[in-house]
Amino acid sequence: MEKKKETQQIFIKKSLAIFSLTCCEGCQFELLKDYVNFNHLLNFYELKNFRLGQENNLDGPFDVAVVEGTPESQREYKLLHQIRRESKIVVAMGACANLGGIQSQRNHLPAKYIGKPEVKTLYDTIKIDFSIPGCPITNTEAISILVDLYWDKIPKLPGHAVCFECRLNENECLIKKGLPCLGPVTVAGCNSICINSKESCFGCRGPLPQANFIKMKEILSAMLSKKEIEDWLTIYGDYQKKWLGINKRDKS
Ligand code: SF4
Ligand code: SF4
Ligand code: SF4
Repeated sequence: MEKKKETQQIFIKKSLAIFSLTCCEGCQFELLKDYVNFNHLLNFYELKNFRLGQENNLDGPFDVAVVEGTPESQREYKLLHQIRRESKIVVAMGACANLGGIQSQRNHLPAKYIGKPEVKTLYDTIKIDFSIPGCPITNTEAISILVDLYWDKIPKLPGHAVCFECRLNENECLIKKGLPCLGPVTVAGCNSICINSKESCFGCRGPLPQANFIKMKEILSAMLSKKEIEDWLTIYGDYQKKWLGINKRDKS
């Protein structure tokens, strides 16, 4: 009996909130995709706010807030700053939040086509503590990052490129066949899912901190024009901009 009481005390739930700004909401759906995994998360967290998954939602404070999408309206900027004020940890979820996402392509259009302000990442806007990469994220990685955060562990993203997983999957290299692929400069963790289906890696998981863009551009220049290379490197945001939120924050 005493033992059971002790265990219950260890598992004091933390509060979790999941918010969506402008985006397709695909990352939230991916979180829910494996319901067994999602239920596992609820052993650790009380879900205080999750508009997609429940009717009754509460305001902060939150122990952990997860945010997908990019802020576009005054209302969303206000909400984002409120989330930061009310949350101990803020996690940027998905390529939109981390890199700007597909919608950030409008930042590269000529001014006359742009009717809206520049798309900003969450990193451009508020202090972000951790990242969950991908477009969409992967369910198991996201749940594992959130469980790590429950235990005050710093979640680590893979330190190697998509190429590593691609080789393990014994795919034929697209670059060797003369086709463009951003696998060499992209954070692994997706099990090279696109290349397994014979599609190029477009870099949705974000750039490796040690990515060699000079070499990548040199390789791509054999198959693409200068303009096309720049287009490839801005599919999910400005790929060469240093992405600081790669889960290496030193908490000590
Ligand atoms: S990262 Fe991709 S899947 Fe996730 S919200 Fe943005 S567009 Fe949708
Ligand atoms: S196909 Fe792409 S990810 Fe796979 S090994 Fe070649 S460059 Fe790397
Ligand atoms: S292969 Fe590249 S584009 Fe495809 S999911 Fe992985 S990181 Fe994203």
